[in-house]
Amino acid sequence: MTISDSNFVVDPARYASLCTCGKPHPTPEVRLYSGEDACIVLAEDCRRIQQDGPVLVIDDENTHKAAGKDVVGALADASVSYKLLTLEGDIEMTDALADSAQDTAAGYSLILAVGAGAINDLGKYVATRLGIPYWAAPTAPSMNGYTSSIAAIKIRGVKRTLPATPPRRIYAVPRVVQESPLKLRQSGFCDVLAKSVSDTDWRTESTLFSGSYCELPSGIVAESEDRYLNSPEKIRNGDSAAVNGLFHGLLVSGIAMTLAGSSAPASGGEHLVSHVLDMREGLTGRTPELHGLQVGAGVILSAVCYRKLAALEPGAVSRGAETAVQSGLDGIDAIWGPYADEVRNRFQQKQPQLLQFNALLPGRWDELRALFSAVRSPNFFLDLIRRTGFPMTLASLRLTRSEFIQAALAARTIRERITVLDLAAHAQILEAAAEETAALLS
Ligand SMILES: [Zn+2]
Ligand SMILES: [Zn+2]
Repeated sequence: MTISDSNFVVDPARYASLCTCGKPHPTPEVRLYSGEDACIVLAEDCRRIQQDGPVLVIDDENTHKAAGKDVVGALADASVSYKLLTLEGDIEMTDALADSAQDTAAGYSLILAVGAGAINDLGKYVATRLGIPYWAAPTAPSMNGYTSSIAAIKIRGVKRTLPATPPRRIYAVPRVVQESPLKLRQSGFCDVLAKSVSDTDWRTESTLFSGSYCELPSGIVAESEDRYLNSPEKIRNGDSAAVNGLFHGLLVSGIAMTLAGSSAPASGGEHLVSHVLDMREGLTGRTPELHGLQVGAGVILSAVCYRKLAALEPGAVSRGAETAVQSGLDGIDAIWGPYADEVRNRFQQKQPQLLQFNALLPGRWDELRALFSAVRSPNFFLDLIRRTGFPMTLASLRLTRSEFIQAALAARTIRERITVLDLAAHAQILEAAAEETAALLS
């Protein structure tokens, strides 16, 4: 048994039928083997495809116990030459970690990451830099980065997403995914929920500027949503079908980003809130919560912003661009200290677009309001998240009210992408939205 040509996560034949933009899309060909014997299949594929090429296996202490030890056991049985790099403690994906892993990986012909979040980003990013293949053995449905063509990395303290070649092959043991820690499942549930608001962010930006929007990415994600979205209790209880459905949904979500050629379909303003909280660690020492859980708070904020924006008349958005740009710039030094120059650089890249808001928004406002009105309510998302068993309060995220509000207000300045947070700042409803979100999360 090996991965066959038909084991695509998403059948490439679906791509053409769901595209509404008519432009060519990158067509990711990620193959998945999901089965209790996945470690053996992986080792056999490794032997067959890599032959005598040595493999660098990267895991951490937890994922080694969950799957890494079985993977290396199977590699040894299949006479595959490998080196195991088990990272210790909490792992943060930084330029320093990537440099040191790249030194270790020199001379290897394949990187195989056994784990989730940072382990996957590290393997993908280093393999891309070395120009060697990358395979993944995911251990938890905790985020959508397995199949994406980007890696999240902190460079000089600022959270960036850099291009990285997705794995050609993914091997998953359904029992390992099912038995992953509840908090990781809750995190993945929130991460996949982000699409409900980020897709509208992308559509809004596309309407105003790039014209890049296509229904294909959200279309392929929607096809698998029934398997997990309405069953948060089953995610909580560890139901195999729901948890593996969520895992599949996250794999598809990553592919959606590759199809779009950017993370826009699955990462908008809600993700920026999480990135701010990650970046603040270097200044405050607060250990960030799991990516998806922080994103979940961002989803509520975006939903509040959309509801408020939908209530505004076109006249309310015909002025305020200069003020919003200036207030964004004004806050950067105080919040970011040593990272201020890097953040300012990012924010200034979208300044020309932000300054066009006065002229652009009123004429398109009715069209945009129809999009905003279609976003589900903040309480709809909050209810779904809380039914997974995660309280989704500021306390459960280990955040004070002022830390959250600061992150909500600063998030729009850390990246050049236009999101709902830029519109909210322009319309002068961002502060009220941040306060209202903090109250919902209290
Ligand atoms: Zn298209
Ligand atoms: Zn995410």
